[in-house]
Formats: sequence, structure tokens, C-alpha cells
Amino acid sequence: MIVGVPKEIKADEYRVALVPAGVEELTRSGHRVLIQSGAGLGSGISDEQYAQHGAEIVPSAAEVWRRAELVVKVKEPLPQEWPLLQAGQTVFTFFHFAADAELTQAVLRSGITAIAYETIQDERGRLPLLTPMSEVAGRMSIQEGAKYLERPFEGRGILLAGVPGVPPATVTILGAGVVGSNAARVAAGLGANVFILDINLDRLRYIDDTMPNNVTTVFSNRHNILECLRLSDLIIGAVLIPGAKAPHLVRREDLKLMPPRAVVVDVAIDQGGCFETSRPTTHAQPTYIVDDIVHYCVTNMPGAVGRTSTYALTNVTLPYILHLANRGVMQAIREHPGLRAGVNIHAGQITNAAVAESFGLKH
Ligand code: NAD
Repeated sequence: MIVGVPKEIKADEYRVALVPAGVEELTRSGHRVLIQSGAGLGSGISDEQYAQHGAEIVPSAAEVWRRAELVVKVKEPLPQEWPLLQAGQTVFTFFHFAADAELTQAVLRSGITAIAYETIQDERGRLPLLTPMSEVAGRMSIQEGAKYLERPFEGRGILLAGVPGVPPATVTILGAGVVGSNAARVAAGLGANVFILDINLDRLRYIDDTMPNNVTTVFSNRHNILECLRLSDLIIGAVLIPGAKAPHLVRREDLKLMPPRAVVVDVAIDQGGCFETSRPTTHAQPTYIVDDIVHYCVTNMPGAVGRTSTYALTNVTLPYILHLANRGVMQAIREHPGLRAGVNIHAGQITNAAVAESFGLKH
């Protein structure tokens, strides 16, 4: 099979869909891999590195799209890419159709098979291609929080770890899922005093069993959230209710309970955020201040650490790419129910119930 990788063109997107190890595995299995020149540069991977592992470097995105039977990407195709989609081709990437009616129409018209990373399931019904990006965002949230607590970045001038004779900072994490537990691990490692809240007691039990002593689990209710706010220099929003907007667990009037110039990192901003005062920001302008509290609400945090994110993402996507290429797309989908759950559009039809429902259609 011919597998193609175009360069990502979305603003602030530095990831690439395949690394040299992936090229090597595909070519070893007898497939051809086309990489658009420069596709890996944002992640520190040169054309030469891809070529050394068997890729053919092609000069333009148009050529990748024209020749590849399977196109692998990171972000959804943007309007300038829509005319390049070829009927009968398979495209494997993050699509997020429910959020974008125009993209959905364009893909329906194109006649491609669209397999979405975000709806692929493992045998327990979890979404394995989302996990690594939550791991990255969770760990990064503490790094960003630590930075914006510094005075030159308008924070309250506190070092998370403290020093001998001066207590460490207090960090509160709302949600103990993938983002929250990864944030807790990094904050604890730096020596902060960490509170982590969830409504799921099994999650709290797991955290209690596995984390060091400077992590305290707290059941999530309004009373406990407000108690933690009063003590916190840094708060991480990491709550998810699948398929719904994040609940506003912290209201505007609650901010005055926090110490002045405390920092909020609302990782859940891509689902609307769990602070009433959160609004989406970008890496170019990540923070703003409301009622003397610094807010960081970047919607695509992993983009800033493109290199780590590329390797974390491709670790989980490559087995599916190999399966698609080795078995042929239709056979691969038939054999693998988790991969089948990823097929959102095929031959001009929506094939995923959640996507269909989001447009008021039956599927
Ligand atoms: P997850 O499902 O693993 O964890 C969410 C946790 O929230 C669960 O443990 C759940 O029990 C808990 N929860 C639900 N209601 C709660 C409440 N009222 N109080 C406390 N906890 C509650 O999800 P995740 O993978 O950790 O993702 C969290 C959020 O981060 C999602 O919205 C995800 O889309 C987002 N995210 C954002 C970025 C970014 O760049 N901004 C990157 C990755 C993930």
C-alpha cells in the first residue's frame, strides 16, 4: 500500500503523523511511504532521517494526496486541503466532526473513508488514541503553572518546591483522570503540597495507593472545592464528563477566596473549561487575568511540545496504520471492532452514531 504523510498546516501545530521508526516498519512490511518535504521539521525530524529509513520525500502536499491510498495526519483536513481529498482514499487523523459541520460536508462529498483517532476504542471501550495527549497536557500543566506563578509572568512569585525553611506551594487538581493523575505526579515530584479531587472514589483509591505522601485525595463537592481554593497557589482544571460540556466547578465569585495572583490552568478548556471565567487562549497569548487570578486556557497544549507529543501519538497510532496497510483497509476494519469504531464516514455516508446524532441524523 502507498502511505502518505503531508505536512500539518494548522497554526501552532508542530506534530507529524509518522516518525522514522514508523517508516521503517511500514517499508519492512513491503509498503511505500511518501513524506512531504519538511513534514517532520516541527518535531525535529529532517527529510534525510525519513529517507534513511526508506521514505520517498515528495515536494508538495498535492503529490502526497494524489498518490497515497492511505493518508495519515494529525489534525483534520483544513479547507485548503479539501480539494485534494481523493474518492476511495482512506484518511486517518483527528477529525472531531461533531464540532465542524462544514468539514463533515466536505468529507461526505469527497468520497474518502475517514477514520478518526478520537473514536477508536480498545477492548474496554476506552479511547486509546486520546490518552497520550492527556498525559502530555497533564504533565505540562504543572510546568506551565510553575512558570506563570513567577512574578515576571504576573504570578504571585512562588516556587512550587519551596526551599529549606520556606514551605512549598499548594496545588489543587480538579479531576483525577488521565490529565489529573499526570499533573499530580509531576507536582508531587517537584515537592508541592497537592490536593486532588474527584467524584469517582475508585479513582481516588487508586491515586491514594500509587502517589507519594504529599498527594492528598479529597472527594469533589462544592464545600471541599472552596476549602482547597483558599489554600491554593495553583489550580488545575482536569474534569471530563464524556460527551458533555465541562461543569463550571469554580464560579467567578469564588476567585476572591484564592490568594491574589494565584494561577488557574484549565486543561478542560477544550470542553468549555471548569472555571466560569475560562475562555480559550493560544500559545501566542496563553494567559489573561480576571479578578487578580492568572488564567492559562490553551486549547492545544500538546502542540507546544511537538517532539514529545509526536512520539507519544505515533506510539499509539502506528499499530493501527500497520494493520490498515497490511490487511487492506476494508479487511482491517472488518477484523478489528475497535478500529471499526473509528470509521466516521465512508463513501459519502456517516457511519458513526455519535457523529450522526450530533447533526440530528439517524445512522
Ligand atoms: P478522564 O476521563 O481521564 O478524567 C476526567 C475525570 O474527571 C474523571 O476521573 C471523572 O470522574 C472526573 N470528574 C467528573 N466530574 C467531576 C467533578 N464534578 N469533580 C471532580 N472530578 C470530576 O479525562 P482526561 O483525559 O483526564 O481529560 C480531561 C480534560 O482535559 C478533557 O476535557 C480533555 O479533552 C482535556 N484535554 C485538554 C487538552 C488541552 O490541550 N487543553 C489536552 C488533552 C486533554
